[in-house]
Amino acid sequence: MGQDLSLHRAGDVTTLPPPSILPLMGQDQNLKGAGDVTTLPPALILPLMGQDPNLNGAGNVTLPPASTRRKKLIAVCGSTGTGKSQLAVELAQHITNHAHDDTRMGSEIISADSMQMYEGLDVITNKATRQEMEDVPHHMLSVLDPRLGDECDVGTFIQKANQIITRLHDDPNVDYVPIIVGGTNYYLQHLLLPGKLVSMDDDKREHVDNSDSDGGKEANAVTEDTVDQILASLGVPLENEQRQLLLRLSEKSDDHDPSALQLWKLLNVLDPKMASRWHYRDTRKTRRSLNVLLETGKRHSQWYEEQREKEQVEEGEEEDGGGGGVERMVIWIYSDLNTLRQRLDKRVDKMIERGLLQEIVELRSIARSLEQSRGDNAVDYTRGIFQTIGYKEFDEYLTHRERTFGSLDGTSDLIPDPSDDQGRKLFDHAIESMKLATRQYAKRQISWLRNRLAPDIGRKASKGIRLVILDATDPNQWQENVNQPASDIIDAFLNDAPLPLEKTIPIPTSNSPAKKSRKKAINASTADDQSSTDDRLSFVICPICTPDEPGSEPQMVLRAKWQDHIHGKVHKNAMYKRGILSRSGPDQSEEAQKKRAARQAARNVD
Ligand SMILES: [Zn+2]
Repeated sequence: MGQDLSLHRAGDVTTLPPPSILPLMGQDQNLKGAGDVTTLPPALILPLMGQDPNLNGAGNVTLPPASTRRKKLIAVCGSTGTGKSQLAVELAQHITNHAHDDTRMGSEIISADSMQMYEGLDVITNKATRQEMEDVPHHMLSVLDPRLGDECDVGTFIQKANQIITRLHDDPNVDYVPIIVGGTNYYLQHLLLPGKLVSMDDDKREHVDNSDSDGGKEANAVTEDTVDQILASLGVPLENEQRQLLLRLSEKSDDHDPSALQLWKLLNVLDPKMASRWHYRDTRKTRRSLNVLLETGKRHSQWYEEQREKEQVEEGEEEDGGGGGVERMVIWIYSDLNTLRQRLDKRVDKMIERGLLQEIVELRSIARSLEQSRGDNAVDYTRGIFQTIGYKEFDEYLTHRERTFGSLDGTSDLIPDPSDDQGRKLFDHAIESMKLATRQYAKRQISWLRNRLAPDIGRKASKGIRLVILDATDPNQWQENVNQPASDIIDAFLNDAPLPLEKTIPIPTSNSPAKKSRKKAINASTADDQSSTDDRLSFVICPICTPDEPGSEPQMVLRAKWQDHIHGKVHKNAMYKRGILSRSGPDQSEEAQKKRAARQAARNVD
């Protein structure tokens, strides 16, 4: 056998080097799964083995420095309820167990789920139980204290996750393959495709402007001269009123609070590209872009472009083997939404049995004490742990119950009393709402995987990242359709062998009509993510709906929602108002006219 030959050549069988040294020899990672050795062309191995300095005088074999090993990473993604956590554990065990005693392979799991980062609340956040973790180390679970109102932003997550990944990859004794499992779309996106890390929405991580949270009032004051220099360099003549506004911003004076529209219009003159990214009502972002301009003398859009180019250069270097390139294998376990729906519904019922309501009661008291201590609106359903599905859905029921029966703390049975008609109704409604919200979340996750992650990975296919999709629709076929193919693919991935793709499926398409899938694309982008911006998420001003009077508020429409907008009520009414449409009943000519007007509007925008 090829392997035996090579071993003899290397010296003594008993001193076979642990396969962790094999990456040094290039293709010889194939030897890792020593059982598969028959599939290897021995001719390929032997010369390489011969050249390996570690094999000369085979008695003194040492592991190569961790830095010279080929670094690999696995990600398991998919919508909620598909069995991601389970597959991650199975793969981690497969990697660890598959190795021989002397192979020193290992795997640990890093959760990329923004809700599971909170301590406790295991039911509501769907955390894997100790038992389900099967002794595989899990990271980034239960690391935030909900009592402190902690929140994690994507930048912090990426930083911490990368620290763990680096530590595992640099381990001198074990060849670790970290497995990311999740979860939260924008965490995954940024972790797997780091080129996208600095996006216009979440650039505060390494941004010139770190005054994100307070609308930019902490930034340093800029002198009048500097402001004029900046204006001169941009070559933008400002009307005096706007120049005064910019000066006031540069002084950080609070005595005059400009309106959201005034600020946005100023940005629109100075940096129209960036202005198109923000709705004029989004004062925080508008201010931030203006602050970047004041502090760097550069347009925020330009600054952003430069960051992007820099990243691309860095990525290019990475590809050339210039540094730290990690090979990434992404496994998406897909489940058909109709089938998944039933599973998700059942899961909600089960969560209630497992103590969901007790956790929500706990969360409610956390929210109250946060509100008391901070005096702010801690119970913001769009922030932190309070976004978790179930919390707001059960609010009405639990509030009712509290009013009727007093404090809920320590109440073990929170199921409605048979005599409590209203309670029963609210309870049933809460369950239905939670089921609906869960389904919608799953749907958004799938849309995002289909419309964002998969295409993004496709574009970077040559850069050490690959995606395979497995069909987890039938849980009874898990072993055959998911576990086994995933294990085979991972073996090939770790061995740099061609991937066995027989069981993989193509990117699932959306069966719904075009309009619906457009909507999905939007959902996928805005979704649960407070994150990503791209072209579809820039704003256009509808010339039909925006009143002609100067100073009136523009009708800003997301580019991605443009088609919906021009077919919507608001827009149609504006067309009636302008006499583009007549109300004389729908006839052929009106239909045509409507289409013309819509086309006209679209042209004005593009
Ligand atoms: Zn319109």
